[in-house]
Amino acid sequence: MDSHALGQRLDRIVKQVRELDDGDRHPIEVNRGVDPELTALALVDVGGEQVSAGDADFAFPIQSMSKAFAYGLAIDTVGLDEVFRHVDVEPSGDAFNRISLAEGDRPDNPMINAGALTVHALLPGGNCTERFQAVHELLSHMAGRELSVNEELFEEELASADRNLGIAHLLKALGVLDADPHDVVEGYTRQCAIEATTVDFARMAATLAHDGVVPGTDERSLTSRAARQVLSVMMTCGMYDDAGEWVTAVGLPGKSGISGGIIAAVPGTCGIAAYSPRLDQHGSSVRGIRALELLSGGLGLHLLRPGLAQL
Ligand code: GLU
Repeated sequence: MDSHALGQRLDRIVKQVRELDDGDRHPIEVNRGVDPELTALALVDVGGEQVSAGDADFAFPIQSMSKAFAYGLAIDTVGLDEVFRHVDVEPSGDAFNRISLAEGDRPDNPMINAGALTVHALLPGGNCTERFQAVHELLSHMAGRELSVNEELFEEELASADRNLGIAHLLKALGVLDADPHDVVEGYTRQCAIEATTVDFARMAATLAHDGVVPGTDERSLTSRAARQVLSVMMTCGMYDDAGEWVTAVGLPGKSGISGGIIAAVPGTCGIAAYSPRLDQHGSSVRGIRALELLSGGLGLHLLRPGLAQL
């Protein structure tokens, strides 16, 4: 890739989206105390080369972006069939914390909280500490460094996790969840508090784009099958009740988190991450979505554009 030209493009986009000052339309206040002007964009190609712009070295919590990676790890732990037996792959069109259950009482997909809690319980280990360690290890491996955890955020979110606890108890009562609901919510909440930079998140997304192999290395962190499954579900369900608009505008598998991060993957090419804490009504970053739209449009990354297939 032409890193210089790409760097300039990213700089231009960050400058442009910094002018957007709307947002804060989401009722959740998890980003309290964070500078709302922070804005970053990063791209890592499958060879491991990286380009970034803005506040790309600022670390922030992974939140729901973790759901995509935990899903891949669960698939590699218990197998796709077993995961599918617990969680469906249908877009619910609902907000992240709605209790959306498909036929057979399975959560609709792994990107809403009901599905993510169920998936967390399928990670390797018999308790929340071990399950957390497994997902933390996976994410650190992809990022190429040991990631930290925002313990303060973890404590705060756990203390007010009534809704997730309610969902977990219902899933247990329905027989979808085998593990202890409190233990699962604790592990899941800590999973959401893992912190990384926009560049780290672009590397994680690039690992998905690179078929599960960490960019710039020969090290596989997810199987090819798991990586493909994760990207497929990100494409249809990654942006909650905004998934349709996202796919039409950006045309890439993506996943947002309530901290203001968004990851997107261009299969076989690169991973992209954007960050800015101002949120829209769906809980996604206003500037982040716009940055991804501009980058996808400018580089012709929309996967459904004509001319992709060379038969
Ligand atoms: N920790 C949040 C929750 O599960 C994550 C939500 C999100 O990032 O969308 O409630």
